[in-house]
Amino acid sequence: MTGAEPGNGTAVVTGASSGIGAATARRLAADGWDVVVGARRLDRLREVAEVIGARALPLDVTDTASVEAFCAEVPYCRLLVNNAGGALGRDPIERFDEDGWRWMYEANVLGVARMTRALLPALEAGGDGHVVVVGSIAGFDPYAGGAGYNAAKHGARAFTRVLRQELLGRPIRVTEIDPGFVETEFSLVRFGGDEGRASAVYEGMTPLTADDVADAIAWAVSRPSHVNVDELVLCARDQYLAQRVHRREPDPDAGR
Ligand code: NAP
Repeated sequence: MTGAEPGNGTAVVTGASSGIGAATARRLAADGWDVVVGARRLDRLREVAEVIGARALPLDVTDTASVEAFCAEVPYCRLLVNNAGGALGRDPIERFDEDGWRWMYEANVLGVARMTRALLPALEAGGDGHVVVVGSIAGFDPYAGGAGYNAAKHGARAFTRVLRQELLGRPIRVTEIDPGFVETEFSLVRFGGDEGRASAVYEGMTPLTADDVADAIAWAVSRPSHVNVDELVLCARDQYLAQRVHRREPDPDAGR
């Protein structure tokens, strides 16, 4: 394998069928990257890919064979955005759901590790690789009802920090992006499709958009090669880390 690849290089974005991943794929394509996107919902993924001229490939990051099949189709890679993941449930520990927690570890921790392991040779061969992990403020500021997701994102954070150290001296940068509330399908997935519970998360405040996070990722990966953005915490003005959110009262005159 040689490092030769056209344009800005190849960028892989996992979990690009919606939310932050889709926005990041769009932004990177606009910035001149040759984008390869992966997710489980191929119809949704293809819709995103078609518009921006990206390559869409099926990917389930919880499945090693799927990760290997995906990565075998990507001989060149300069940037890997490990975005696929999410949360399930907000139950207290006394009622925690083992399957939900297992999925969160699989997607947010092992999925990141599998993708990174599979693409490291290509990232290194190009002579200027970059691994981005979409973590969360939940990865360093735990909250009641969040233990499973908190533990998973703490795991992703430990992974990112270790990777950064292990790759010192090699031509691969490592960046963690830690957003607060972003209005995507995240809460809908977390609450099993309950739209009322999902929209209540953002009630009375202005959350980040997926494009805001894509913008931060695009900034981090466009610094000169000798600059490593180790971590970037990005919150809405209305939010201070995981536990403090400023919510405006509904306007009593609204609708009059
Ligand atoms: P989203 O709209 O639900 O997007 C999640 C994406 O991950 C989807 O494209 C989904 O695609 C993909 N995905 C889930 N499981 C997967 C798997 N096993 N294999 C491959 N792809 C998988 O939510 P989002 O907010 O954009 O979330 C993106 C990342 O940001 C996640 O890691 C999340 O933890 C993190 N984050 C979100 C927020 C927030 O408030 N929204 C805050 C901090 C961090 P398929 O279902 O088609 O596979």
